[in-house]
Amino acid sequence: MRFYRPLRPIAAMTFDLDDTLYDNRPVIRRTAQKSHAFLQSYHPLLRQFSVEQYQQLRDSLLKQEPDIYHDVSEWRRRAVELAMRNVGLNEDEAGEGSRAVMAEFAYWRSQVEVPDETHSTLAMLAERIPLVVITNGNAEPHLFGLDKYFKFILRAGPDGRAKPYHDMYHLAAQNLGLPLENILHIGDDLTTDVAGSVRCGMQSCWINLCAGNLMHIADSRLLPDLEISRLASLTALV
Ligand SMILES: [Mg+2]
Repeated sequence: MRFYRPLRPIAAMTFDLDDTLYDNRPVIRRTAQKSHAFLQSYHPLLRQFSVEQYQQLRDSLLKQEPDIYHDVSEWRRRAVELAMRNVGLNEDEAGEGSRAVMAEFAYWRSQVEVPDETHSTLAMLAERIPLVVITNGNAEPHLFGLDKYFKFILRAGPDGRAKPYHDMYHLAAQNLGLPLENILHIGDDLTTDVAGSVRCGMQSCWINLCAGNLMHIADSRLLPDLEISRLASLTALV
């Protein structure tokens, strides 16, 4: 554990999900493959539809509607819907098809292996202070047994703009009824998690799971309040 500033009292913690509480890389790889295969098999006209074509549709949607960036699930669903419209499915078929693909996506997205250390750490912390999730992603913690530790879960899209914007950080403090400075946010991303929480006045903890060096990483702009290399270190703070 490394401290960059003296800590103020911690009355609650907010957590990033992906790559903070579990390794999300294999999940994303598998989910992308499985849901694309499902899309191709959904209709004969989609059999040749490539990942590159899908990516082009995502890019064009983002260009037309920049705010869609903040809701990754809706962005994905709309790109799938557009793919189906482009090969000739009608509006109803494409709407229904896009929801079917998203259900397949959600299934694979929730096949997450949560380390024992995450369970034991969150269980211990949750007995002492309120815990909250702040995520830019579309994981559903109730599908892999993580929801029980948290008072509430905030998601980019329905609950505001994506991190590093302050929307969800402020909403968490407001819902908890606590000043920002008495909340510690924990995350793996130096921009969305660290810079986002520091800028809005929260305390910030960088979880450095890949043995990175803060002084040599290009996207480290603002120092966190502290750095940890394993989640269990948090139990020493409260
Ligand atoms: Mg993350």
